[in-house]
Amino acid sequence: MKSINFLSMTLFNTSVSVDIDKAIEWLTKGECVAIPTETVYGLAANAYHPEAIAKIFEIKQRPKFDPLIVHTDSIDKLHSIVTDIPERAMRLANKFWPGPLTLLLPKSDRISDLITSGLETVAVRIPNHPMTLALLSKLDFPIAAPSANPFGYISPTSPNHVLKQLKGKIPMILNGGNCMVGIESTIIGFQDDEPVIYRLGGLPLEAIEQCVGKLKVMPFSSSQPKSPGMLASHYAPRKKLYFHDLSSCLNNFLPLEVGVIAFDKFNPSFPEENQILLSPEGNLLEAAAQLFSSMRNLDESKLKAIYAESFPQYSLGLAINDRLSRASVREQ
Ligand code: AMP
Ligand code: MG
Repeated sequence: MKSINFLSMTLFNTSVSVDIDKAIEWLTKGECVAIPTETVYGLAANAYHPEAIAKIFEIKQRPKFDPLIVHTDSIDKLHSIVTDIPERAMRLANKFWPGPLTLLLPKSDRISDLITSGLETVAVRIPNHPMTLALLSKLDFPIAAPSANPFGYISPTSPNHVLKQLKGKIPMILNGGNCMVGIESTIIGFQDDEPVIYRLGGLPLEAIEQCVGKLKVMPFSSSQPKSPGMLASHYAPRKKLYFHDLSSCLNNFLPLEVGVIAFDKFNPSFPEENQILLSPEGNLLEAAAQLFSSMRNLDESKLKAIYAESFPQYSLGLAINDRLSRASVREQ
């Protein structure tokens, strides 16, 4: 329910609910609603409603150069969002949608420059979450939704993560439980019809290559990101996170002051009680699903810093290492 209008931002009594029709009501009115997906929670708004889109940027404190992902529920509806679907994009879409794959395709006139940050391509995907698919099937507009967190911070993988950071700023969080994949979508664009990975994510590289052959992975850069998910410093906790740099970590902190994110075995340099094993079974899918909530737990704990080990460089280990690297401090 709306209560106070404070400067330009409305203060809401944020509800956490499974009421899909209520979410539709808010979205139709031009408000933002947090929605569950298999990757992370999204901050959704009507993609055809410029003021609603502007609210996403305001709520997230997101710079305007960081474009949004548009979500829909069918390849049929995709035709009003994009003007062209290259053959290999269609192959990927047919194979992996609904799923953690975002495609960069030429935008139609219905998609505003605010959504694409002035780029000629729009990022689109069909997410794989039953509640959000049900929601999308009842809407006559697509939704734009970046991750539902303040810009630069760790993405939310549970309704509670969203509530902690966006309470009062949005009317509703659609409660779809914990995110099953737990890491953002893989983003694929096309250069001269050749597929290129702009952001590693929840879809393993090997699965993509099986579908369309070997493809280039763009390095992230902080200067001129084609895709701001490419920013070098992103997905970061407030505490210093050392990624695979034991000497810098132990030069600055005592072992007992440090929380550790490890894969399947404890790191002998730190007390075991301060360590989180993302998957004692050694399963990278499980590790990815646990990554962001573990980073948040350590960020909120009394420990002073975070040390993260590097993960195996294949499957979702690639995306885990990418996020940890961008969350980390870089000391010369
Ligand atoms: P988020 O959902 O918060 O991870 O943000 C969406 C991300 O999608 C952005 O940070 C960009 O990396 C990427 N993205 C969205 N639209 C485009 C586009 N047109 N070109 C390149 N990257 C995009
Ligand atoms: Mg994000």
